[in-house]
Amino acid sequence: MTAVDGGRRDGPDRTPVLVYHSVTEQATERYRGFAIDPGLFREQMAAVAEAGYRTRTVGDMLSDREGPGGRAADRTVVLTFDDGFREVHGLVLPVLRELDLRATAYLVSAYIGGTSRWLAPDGEADRPLLSWTEIRELAAEGIEIGAHGHRHLALDLLRPADATDEIVRSRQVLEDGLGQAVTSFAYPYGYHTGSIKRAVRDAGYTNACGIKQAMTHPADDRFALARIIVYADTSPETFRDWLAGDGLPLGWQDERLVTRGWRVVRRVRSRLDRRALAAASPD
Ligand SMILES: [Zn+2]
Repeated sequence: MTAVDGGRRDGPDRTPVLVYHSVTEQATERYRGFAIDPGLFREQMAAVAEAGYRTRTVGDMLSDREGPGGRAADRTVVLTFDDGFREVHGLVLPVLRELDLRATAYLVSAYIGGTSRWLAPDGEADRPLLSWTEIRELAAEGIEIGAHGHRHLALDLLRPADATDEIVRSRQVLEDGLGQAVTSFAYPYGYHTGSIKRAVRDAGYTNACGIKQAMTHPADDRFALARIIVYADTSPETFRDWLAGDGLPLGWQDERLVTRGWRVVRRVRSRLDRRALAAASPD
């Protein structure tokens, strides 16, 4: 395959930032697309290591990019793990350690040591999350710990003060628990607006990730970095193309319009949900 928009294959101008959620054999029908089989995960990590890609945390990738020459991001792949599922410690860490790979893990601060309550609509509210002991071990092994909101709420649908509280609190809780600075943020569900980006920056973060299914690049927005979700059915060929910087656009193309249209749909839906709740309540 060739690069879709003229960017240089394997060049420093396009970096795949991959997003993983749960690495597990078991998932409900609704969640299955996000659940990567542990054997497949291992094969994907081996492909990264064998092809000689350099893995960086999100924070380090940005330091490379903005450092002298700005070209150190060549052949770099960034691995990120959203939501802080317990297997990031039990299954993922041993693989990363064995293959000497770096990563960033984004955690939901209100539910540390608990379960993924926000996944109730997908029938996955009981998926175990990392404990503080496990999180501290991850950090000690060089995994960057980033924030993913306090309760994993869609920030663009909250009142501004509530969105700010989610953003500020998730940093405070993680910094208090870890005893170290937390500077990277990932928007729950990838949803963000201009004012939410400003709230993230004002809360002291230095960068934030969205989703976009696109490659990040030096001119990407550091408070809306493009990432690529690895799905359960992502083929080995597609995965290798992504590693090589192929098969996906750069981060800014058309993403805004798509995200905006979807936000209108979600707003209407959330109003309807509230109305249904009000109608169903006994008072
Ligand atoms: Zn998430």
